[in-house]
Amino acid sequence: MSTDATTQSPAFDPETLRRKYREERDKRLRAEGNAQYIEIKDEFGHYLEDPYVAPIVRAPKTDTVEFLVIGGGFAGLLAGARLREAGVEEIRMIEKGGDFGGTWYWNRYPGAACDTEAYIYLPLLEETGYIPTEKYAKAPEILAHSKRIGKHFDLYRDVLFQTQITELRWNADASAWRVTTDRGDNFHARFVVMANGPLNRPKLPGVAGIGSFKGHSFHTSRWDYDYTGGDSYGNLEKLKDKRVGVIGTGATAVQCVPHLGASAKALYVFQRTPSSIDVRANRKTDPDWSNTLQPGWQRRRMENFSTITGGGFAEVDEVMDGWTEIIGKLLRSRNMKGSTPTEIIRTIELADFEKMEQIRARAESVVEDRETAENLKPWYRQFCKRPCFHDEYLQTFNRPGVKLIDTNGKGIERITEKGIVADGEEYELDCIIYASGFEVGTPMERRAGYQVYGEGGVALSDKWRAGVSTMFGMHTNGFPNLLIMGLSQVGGSANIPHVIDVQARHIAYVLKNAVARQARILDISKAAEEDWVQKVVAASVMSLDFLETCTPGYYNNEGQPQGELIRRNGAYAPGIMAFSRILDAWREEGSLAGVEFN
Ligand code: NDP
Repeated sequence: MSTDATTQSPAFDPETLRRKYREERDKRLRAEGNAQYIEIKDEFGHYLEDPYVAPIVRAPKTDTVEFLVIGGGFAGLLAGARLREAGVEEIRMIEKGGDFGGTWYWNRYPGAACDTEAYIYLPLLEETGYIPTEKYAKAPEILAHSKRIGKHFDLYRDVLFQTQITELRWNADASAWRVTTDRGDNFHARFVVMANGPLNRPKLPGVAGIGSFKGHSFHTSRWDYDYTGGDSYGNLEKLKDKRVGVIGTGATAVQCVPHLGASAKALYVFQRTPSSIDVRANRKTDPDWSNTLQPGWQRRRMENFSTITGGGFAEVDEVMDGWTEIIGKLLRSRNMKGSTPTEIIRTIELADFEKMEQIRARAESVVEDRETAENLKPWYRQFCKRPCFHDEYLQTFNRPGVKLIDTNGKGIERITEKGIVADGEEYELDCIIYASGFEVGTPMERRAGYQVYGEGGVALSDKWRAGVSTMFGMHTNGFPNLLIMGLSQVGGSANIPHVIDVQARHIAYVLKNAVARQARILDISKAAEEDWVQKVVAASVMSLDFLETCTPGYYNNEGQPQGELIRRNGAYAPGIMAFSRILDAWREEGSLAGVEFN
């Protein structure tokens, strides 16, 4: 029967688990790595079309603006907001979607919700005077909040929606960036903030016959509600006479499968690797709690979460969720005074085994069919893949119309006119939904959709071919007046909005200084860049061993971790709190060390 067994920690034999994890990884290793996926273009280009708004008509821009922010997701919105707070009046924004929201503009699939607590995940809550209605807010509420930020900071004033940059090129004569787009724009921007977001380009599995299916199909990030009926809250009533197949069982599928299972006549979930599904425990916001919040509460709460999930100490765990439990527990094992590195690694591994045994026990206790329950057990270490949290996903496999098609790590075989073939059997379907994820390990210019050419026409991807090279992850020498918001070489956190807010504040400070000094050109010295790269590499705890033993996925470049580059291209390992302290001290010192104004 369906009981929850998360509190139990069954006994386990570490050596048996190590062997099992290796076997499961080996089943999934593929020589083609990232190349197994299809880039969405040409005959597959329709999978990228925006189903949410009608095309906007406007004349091309040919002017010169002071500040350009690329991207209207959380990072772009934060950059815009912090620039406004710094007194910047003229901000142009460019966004591929038809409104603000970024990932929350595109991902409107049923069940979409944040996985990190909304009170720390939704940016600028105090600034906009908004309190989320529940601990894990659903997609429509997050999209509405994105628009609220846009309105509050007057960012709609000069925004170009449905516009994709095609090239960004430094024009030394004009001391500005020449920006061209797919809308025929050809204008100049003196300072550019790149806030493209890391996972924005959907991908498809490269299986035979993918173009041959005669039924309906779409990717989860372009949900076709005309076909399914319902909305982000579910009630997909048009599926009641449909046989639906979902390819993929990552964080997206985990959220939409319960709604598909509730509505479709028949649902087949095609699984290559199961996700780890921990407890969600969502709840409505208690006004007795939110009414007591004191100014500065959101930042303190973000910092409390990032401190605990960074392995640090805090008197209280304010958020108390799966992340603080898992990461806090795993990383606190590191604070073992006097232990040797080998002992520390072993302790962390044991804590990981224990956690994953709980996750597997949960699948066993919730899912009634024995074989299905076994197939839903993940056999890898917790952070080999994105941990998921849900209280209805596993339960959905107890519904009579829902079937898990486990492919034993091999993936689906092919797609036919009628449906999907897995393990030699053809499943006839009316609709295929690709929950197959987004490009991660592909070249930056392919994911962003444009190339950046700096001084002397050097392409950013050429400069970074031997590894990312920045100061604080935000500046790179030879690319003047360009500020980058990404996840490489900046302090990390499981709560990304915390990371991008720290960057947005810093960028606003640097740009405010540039304006105050009437600088036309802002660059950084090569020495400052080299120094930061060394610090990032020296601080890295990223272990090639760990990634190599992981089951393939985008965390380890589909089973092909890129050697020592992972140290350089990864985050600044001491985390967002340590990173913030470095930036605070740098700003306090006041000389803008490493920055060169002209
Ligand atoms: P993922 O990349 O995590 O998942 C893609 C899925 O497709 C995997 O299960 C993968 O299997 C499967 N797949 C790929 N090729 C095949 C094949 N040939 N046959 C069968 N299955 C296949 O994408 P998601 O969209 O689920 O999530 C991406 C990221 O977006 C998450 O990791 C998370 O960071 C973020 N996200 C966040 C959410 C939130 O905060 N609420 C919600 C949803 C997503 P395999 O594992 O074997 O590669």
